[in-house]
Amino acid sequence: MRIRLLTKFVLVMGALALTPAIYMAAHLSTVSQKGIQASVLELHTSLAGALADQVEAYLKVNDEKILFAANSLMQDLTWEQKQLVLRSLIDTHPDVMDISALNRRGLEVIKVYNPKLSAESPLANRSAEEGFIAAASGRHNARVVARIGDDVVLLAYYPLNESVILRVAVSLVAFSEWIGSKQAGGTGFAVIVDGKGEPLFYPRELVSPETLTDLPRWPIVAAALQSKSLGSSEFSDAQRRELVGAYAPVRSMGWAAVFIQPRDEAYAASLEMRRTSRIILIIVVAVTIIASLLMARLLTSPLLSLTQAAESVAKGAFDVSVKISTRDELQDLAETFNKMAARLQAYAALQIDRLVAEQRKTQAILYTIDEGILLSDDRSNLQLANRRALDMLAIDPEVPFEGKPLSEVAAASGLTAAVADSAAQSKPEAFIDVELGEAKSRVFFRVRSLPVKIADGASSGAVVTALRDVTFEKALDKMKDDFLHNITHDLRNPLGSVIGFVEMLLKGGAGELTAQQRTIILSMQRSLSRQLSLINNILDIAKMDSGRTQLQLKSVSPAEFAARSMGMLESLYIQKKLNVVLAIPPELKLTADSDLLERVITNLLGNAIKYTPAGGSITIGAEEIEGGKAVRFCVADTGPGIPEAYLTRVFEKFEQVTGQRSGGTGLGLTITKHFVEAHLGRIWVESELGKGSRFCFTVPQGLAVAENGAVVAS
Ligand code: ADP
Repeated sequence: MRIRLLTKFVLVMGALALTPAIYMAAHLSTVSQKGIQASVLELHTSLAGALADQVEAYLKVNDEKILFAANSLMQDLTWEQKQLVLRSLIDTHPDVMDISALNRRGLEVIKVYNPKLSAESPLANRSAEEGFIAAASGRHNARVVARIGDDVVLLAYYPLNESVILRVAVSLVAFSEWIGSKQAGGTGFAVIVDGKGEPLFYPRELVSPETLTDLPRWPIVAAALQSKSLGSSEFSDAQRRELVGAYAPVRSMGWAAVFIQPRDEAYAASLEMRRTSRIILIIVVAVTIIASLLMARLLTSPLLSLTQAAESVAKGAFDVSVKISTRDELQDLAETFNKMAARLQAYAALQIDRLVAEQRKTQAILYTIDEGILLSDDRSNLQLANRRALDMLAIDPEVPFEGKPLSEVAAASGLTAAVADSAAQSKPEAFIDVELGEAKSRVFFRVRSLPVKIADGASSGAVVTALRDVTFEKALDKMKDDFLHNITHDLRNPLGSVIGFVEMLLKGGAGELTAQQRTIILSMQRSLSRQLSLINNILDIAKMDSGRTQLQLKSVSPAEFAARSMGMLESLYIQKKLNVVLAIPPELKLTADSDLLERVITNLLGNAIKYTPAGGSITIGAEEIEGGKAVRFCVADTGPGIPEAYLTRVFEKFEQVTGQRSGGTGLGLTITKHFVEAHLGRIWVESELGKGSRFCFTVPQGLAVAENGAVVAS
């Protein structure tokens, strides 16, 4: 994946700047949030505790006052005096509504009331009241909270003696209002719940009774009633409102004081702090990103200009200059780059001059040489042609030919067709000769095409074609051919008949020869046959060099042509007292040019006779090898042998083993090798110095001449 430098800079710088900021912000906000929440809960807990204490204190004072009055009633006083005591209680305790003494059946026997809080009412029967029943059964200090009309009333029952129970009704309206004023925050409130969790006192103007209908089931109320000490918790009510609260038990009554506040409100400060820290963090992030973007751009823009300049240089536009004034290493780099670009530009200019000069030279050569040169591209469209080619192909130089096929611009002729054929073949050795014109003004062209190779040796698809006027060479060839022909007739033929006559003289065709005559004629015969072989060799070499060795293939018998060779040289080896053995099976047959193979055997046998000292022996053998695929001929002698260094050299033109000069030309083995290779065979010599030489050659079976005149093996 490719990430731009700018992006990398922004990411790294952003990460470096932001990681600590985000960590600190998150850490501080969590720590402060926890701190604030803990202190909020602590405050609530202490408020609940204080409230519970105040409720306890109120109830205690209440009790103490009433007990004081009750004790007074126990004194031996008249009813008027007792009534006065009760009245003074009402006066000192403005919340007391009425006080009555009940007999054991629950009937009020005496009653005083606080005119400010209740109306005069007849003596009543209290036997059904819960508190009375409890007090009558012996419980001291039985207290019941009841509702009388809108008032919340605390009914306290005190058994004075066996027959009288004091009943005091205390209005808790003021108490309730006082509790209702205990608020926390905007909507937090205090509630006193009884032992069943039912709300006794709470701010009625703040909290509707419906809100508190399921109060006994609120987790905090359950916790408050179960716990014997202070506590706090976060919880949700039935409507899933998130609340926090604290509680404290009111032990004397089995009640609990509970402070409840919506969570958001209670933690408003911490939430506010969190929000503020988030906003600050966002601002920091934004500022950091912008700052790192600007910084990164500041750092990368010189690099970008350098990159763009380098790209231009890569495309060959060297006239670029980078202007960076950062007064640091980047500025140094830019200055070095500018110098480099300037040097490259100078160099390129030099190269261009050189190229132009080279091109001019190439053009000069192309347009001056006597050969016609054509360049066609991979789609066979002409791309270049020198003046000579235009002349030869009769292309109008005024008409642009570039990009057009040859057939479109050149007049149809044998030469045009040959150029197309040659370009299609485009083989390094192949050429096509074309003959144009009438008998007297005959012109010859040689067309040769070569594929254009590119640097790594692969073919580019383009082809260069060279057209050469070979009329003069052809004429020379003809003259050479005629000369050779004449030599053959005028030089070799008379020599042949002289040799024939010498043979005849030796055989006594002109009468018996004296010993002296015979010696003279034998010497003549040796000189004549050496001269004939010299002439033969020179003619063969000339033929070979002009590449005109044509094989006349037919089925031949090696035993026959080898015997003919032997016969030709018979007088030579008899004279030298050499034992020549022909070891070729008469039934062995071969498809070959028997004249040429006879010449090969004659050459090898002639050499063997020449180099083998008198009394030696020579064997001419032939046999099938490779399971009948070829025939191997060998001529072995018991002569001096050939040094190892000469084993291959003797087959080269004019090579003779030093010290063995014997009037030869050094051409015999060269011609022999050429004739063997014309038969697609191979020739070699095996030799051990002092023991003799063995010249062998192979000829494949089943040779044939193909349509194009070439010899092929089956
Ligand atoms: P030349 O006309 O000299 O015989 P060749 O090409 O026939 O030319 O032979 C080349 C040389 O090879 C000879 O000069 C001779 O030194 C050596 N040579 C050829 N045949 C024999 C052989 N049978 N024994 C020893 N040397 C040989």
